[in-house]
Amino acid sequence: MHFQPLLDDIAATLRPELGRGGQVASYIPALARVPAAQFGIALRTCDGEEAQAGDSGTPFSIQSISKLFSLALAMRELGDTLWERIGREPSGNPFNSLVQLEAEHGIPRNPFINAGALAVTDRLVSRCDAKARMLALLSSLCGEPVGFDAEVAASEAATGFRNVALANFMKSFGRIDNDVGPVLDAYFHDCAITMSCVQLARAAGFLCRDGAHPYTGEPVLNERQTRRVNALMLTCGTYDAAGEFAFRIGLPCKSGVGGGIVAVVPDRLTLCVWSPALEPSGNSLLGMKALELFAAKTGLSIF
Ligand code: GLU
Repeated sequence: MHFQPLLDDIAATLRPELGRGGQVASYIPALARVPAAQFGIALRTCDGEEAQAGDSGTPFSIQSISKLFSLALAMRELGDTLWERIGREPSGNPFNSLVQLEAEHGIPRNPFINAGALAVTDRLVSRCDAKARMLALLSSLCGEPVGFDAEVAASEAATGFRNVALANFMKSFGRIDNDVGPVLDAYFHDCAITMSCVQLARAAGFLCRDGAHPYTGEPVLNERQTRRVNALMLTCGTYDAAGEFAFRIGLPCKSGVGGGIVAVVPDRLTLCVWSPALEPSGNSLLGMKALELFAAKTGLSIF
């Protein structure tokens, strides 16, 4: 299949819609001022073929897409013991909700809601320099240095009252081992990582290759762990729109409020789309449309 003409076609189809509809995330100034009229798409196949179109090289705030990579690090570090502290069910509640945590004794529903990512980060903070380890993993996976946006990290910390509450609430149940300060600091920095569509399509490459590093072929995760990450992406990766994603797109996806969405076609390719304006569930409006066009035009789906 020739992907370059396809991605050019998707970018051209969506161009008239750029800057129309949806809302850029506004909870911190650094995200609120990102121009809405941008769209990028990039993919990398298991064999290393790449294609990209639009603003595919523009760095953006990866936000919750980082939860994919912190989960991979924690699965690698802790193996199955990770799941003693974190569930695997869709939450049906907003990503930053506190309500289920009380009924479920401080165990978050899944690793992709904020509480779950904080629990994952706590386990990493116990074992390593979590911030450095994330940057090292991402830089290795995409073959280029990756960094934090210091302004975004500072704003996340200054406004992240709910995340502070979530961490403290879990700590009250004895589910967070470390002081909440370093856990929150690592989490806020993960949200503030900056990458482009091209870099993310490469970095996620292990998810379509049974866990093998996209460049070296070394295992990032084993095959079973990789299947599990893809299952979690499908069921929990896109806020409260996982059903809609499965229905319209049919691929495991992880999105972030910076407007990026990473999608996996197991055994074939990974792709990343980005457009900052979000629909009400917090997923990129044009990103969803682009993935829907991609799935329709290629027939690629896990179903
Ligand atoms: N950084 C934000 C938070 O932790 C949102 C991240 C996202 O969902 O993309 O509240």
